[in-house]
Amino acid sequence: MLKVDNISVKYGSFVAIRDINIEVNQGEIVVLLGANGAGKSTTFNTISGLNKPFQGEVIFEGKRIDKLTADRIVKEGIVQCAEGRKLFPAMSVLENLRMGAYVHRRNKGQIKQTMEHVFELFPILEQKKDDPAGSLSGGQQQMVAIGRALMAKPKVMMLDEPSVGLAPLIVEQMFEVIQQINKEGTTIVLAEQNANAALKIATKGYVFENGNVVVEGTSEELFTNDSVRKAYIGA
Ligand code: ATP
Repeated sequence: MLKVDNISVKYGSFVAIRDINIEVNQGEIVVLLGANGAGKSTTFNTISGLNKPFQGEVIFEGKRIDKLTADRIVKEGIVQCAEGRKLFPAMSVLENLRMGAYVHRRNKGQIKQTMEHVFELFPILEQKKDDPAGSLSGGQQQMVAIGRALMAKPKVMMLDEPSVGLAPLIVEQMFEVIQQINKEGTTIVLAEQNANAALKIATKGYVFENGNVVVEGTSEELFTNDSVRKAYIGA
């Protein structure tokens, strides 16, 4: 469904990711593991069209997309749920969610239906729908970020460290919702440092180090891989 084919990306003369190959099949949850700065966000930004690779291609549903603009890629069905939430803090929860639906703005009925679904997944957001997004807790802001991504009705949702800074119980709930979204038909690509939780829900994963993929395999393979355990699971 989504294929990252040998891409490399530079910031100025600094090569941030090199020869990256990733394959995501429809219905999967794929996890990208790696420390800060390993290249996960750069990879996401390349898939979503914010970074342009100097080498390689991104193919989505058989079509090359790495030359398309970011808003066009959203229309194709790939949505990125950014790290650090990146909400509009002064705007209400409702307004933030509506922003996610701008690609479908002519379809009012669908927007209403998707919004109802977001409130089913995250009932607390309906209660807080008129509050400024910036007044919500970290976990609730993450829910708004995921809800906003869902409003675009993506085929593929990319989540950049959805668990960062959240309490363990909230992390658990977040991963349950991600699984639920996946079961409902959205393919998920997840960047995480919380390898333990991520590998439990993922089908396969890629381990990033210094801009390279150093290990890849099924979740089970990664879970039992000694170097992965040492670096990311700690047992
Ligand atoms: P994080 O979780 O911290 O975002 P990451 O694995 O997503 O980590 P990237 O953000 O992709 O890693 O960073 C890969 C490398 O590229 C790092 O060395 C980082 O310092 C560098 N980098 C990222 N963005 C830029 C930028 N806009 N300009 C210059 N260098 C950058």
